[in-house]
Amino acid sequence: MSLLSVRSLSIRFPVHRGWWRAPSRFVHAVDDVSFDLAAGETVGLVGESGCGKTTLGRAVVRLIAPTAGAIEFGGIDLASLKPGQLRPVRRRLQMIFQDPFGSLNPCLTVGQIIGEALDIHGLARTRTARRARVGALLDHVGLAPADARRYPREFSGGQRQRIGIARALAVEPELIVCDEPVSALDVSVQAQVVNLLHDLQREHGLAYLFIAHDLALIEHLSRRILVMYLGRVVEAGDTKAVCRAPAHPYTQALLSAVPRLDPSANQRRIVLTGEVPSPITPPSGCRFHPRCPMAEPRCRHAVPALGEISSGRWAACHLVGAGNRMAMLECLV
Ligand code: SF4
Repeated sequence: MSLLSVRSLSIRFPVHRGWWRAPSRFVHAVDDVSFDLAAGETVGLVGESGCGKTTLGRAVVRLIAPTAGAIEFGGIDLASLKPGQLRPVRRRLQMIFQDPFGSLNPCLTVGQIIGEALDIHGLARTRTARRARVGALLDHVGLAPADARRYPREFSGGQRQRIGIARALAVEPELIVCDEPVSALDVSVQAQVVNLLHDLQREHGLAYLFIAHDLALIEHLSRRILVMYLGRVVEAGDTKAVCRAPAHPYTQALLSAVPRLDPSANQRRIVLTGEVPSPITPPSGCRFHPRCPMAEPRCRHAVPALGEISSGRWAACHLVGAGNRMAMLECLV
């Protein structure tokens, strides 16, 4: 059974041309996205900057209200909950942010930042219990309990991300949305934080929705993958299967940019031309058609549905079907 079930989720933001005017245009950030995530599982969400993956992650923890669709977590429809009803559910759903410094209040000590989460959810009855729990959490993420007295500015980027992880863990969540948690860190520190997240998952049975633009990282971490382009999921399935033989032209282009250690891998770089179109006026038909090397006339007006192309593999492309797929792969090799 799914811990998280997202169905037909759409998120639009109004574009105002003056506070007195009704919005005439909308940013189509997320469009008709559906997926499931099981307890203890990691699902990777990849795509270029601005494709809507962070908006989707924020909607899952209800930092953003969806425009349409359903987000069911543990059998509760989050989309229909009022702000006052969200608190008990929020305890089970946490988020780790991309910018570890920006997500920590610089005026509070680390002990106050982590303790605040405990206070909000009533998880430490006395000051002694609170102090002990904060110390244990810091120890758990590789920091010293004495660090509780220091301020975020006194730590390195990797240490700040560890503080963010300790804050998320404080409320004993079941699902953590990791929004590019290592992209702002030095390469040498990235592996340490990724390993920490991996160990914590094994220890606590956590589920992760792991957002990244780095496909190699997602390949390493997640069992299933969702590839997003301009607000829509264009490919989904088992991570290893998708990375071994990507079906959608966009996934193929993303993967062609990932360096491979295997010298026998016949890797040809597919360079996408043009910029990602504006989500305010997304292209008609297939949103990828202005940049797709395989585009056909029908791609300009017919929206490709996300269809199952083999067991557990999904792709949204007119050319991807049982027969078409082989022909397209041969074409691109
Ligand atoms: Fe390319 Fe057409 Fe497939 Fe879209 S539907 S990915 S434009 S071939």
